[in-house]
Amino acid sequence: MVESAHSPPVGRFAPSPSGPLHFGSMVAALGSCLSARSRQGRWLLRIEDVDVPRSVPGAAEGILRTLEAFGFAWDGDVIWQSRRTAAYREAFARLEAEGHLFGCACTRKEMADSTLTRDGTRRYPGTCRAGLPAGREARAWRLRVPPGRIAFVDGIQGGIDEDVSAEVGDFVLLRADGLFAYQLAVVVDDAETGVTEVVRGADLLDSTARQIVLQRMLAYPTPAYAHLPVATNGAGEKLSKQTLARSVEGARPAQVLVDALDFLGQGPPPGLADCGLDEVWQWALRNWSMTRVPARRQAPCPAYA
Ligand code: GLU
Repeated sequence: MVESAHSPPVGRFAPSPSGPLHFGSMVAALGSCLSARSRQGRWLLRIEDVDVPRSVPGAAEGILRTLEAFGFAWDGDVIWQSRRTAAYREAFARLEAEGHLFGCACTRKEMADSTLTRDGTRRYPGTCRAGLPAGREARAWRLRVPPGRIAFVDGIQGGIDEDVSAEVGDFVLLRADGLFAYQLAVVVDDAETGVTEVVRGADLLDSTARQIVLQRMLAYPTPAYAHLPVATNGAGEKLSKQTLARSVEGARPAQVLVDALDFLGQGPPPGLADCGLDEVWQWALRNWSMTRVPARRQAPCPAYA
């Protein structure tokens, strides 16, 4: 079926259960939800627990509880990546059958001299691309990235253009620990659940070209992308589990949502938070405009750091 430009969008929020929701994740939840819902679209919730060792027990349940307490309502059942291994395996097998994958024996240590990419992973130098060195066994499986630039227009960040093969190289789809990589899981899930727009934090902008490469190789449609500004603490660091960002659980939901609307450039009127959660949602749905979202925010969010 060809998507008409006028069919209602399907958006999603896809938190990793590595800790409780902080203000930065609340911004992504709200932005993705309002973008879809303000145009009568569907909004899905996916728990990204594909990286089992990094998932914190109980964190996913805490995230669901917090979202509900903040008035979020998603369509359909929650999608758990840890239950979708068969779908990832099938996509992986298809890529393998078409000759797009190769086994790689390189250890992290062996790649330590390789250039760092913008998101901190190592650029793959191509060591095993033409075959495993004698006597070595495959640890991980990589995608043979075709040469050429990937260009797309982000709804907030504007024109982006990246040569994945030159800047990142062949990236891992099946990790040495036997788990499927985030990039494969996201692409398969977005496609199989009919996601038409990905609204998420700009810290994931560097993954997008990689995901488009995979979508093309798997003959999936490419959704629209909009990468929201990243919330930072006083030191200019992204709010995250690593920077010990405070959980929004326990904070007043209406106030947090109004602060997130303000962060997203929506200009909520003074006093809105005091009108209650329902009123905040109604105002937000009526007034949401992606064109007002700034690409970057200079001001830190000390109250939530
Ligand atoms: N699970 C990722 C995160 O929590 C988000 C992935 C995505 O939205 O594509 O940072």
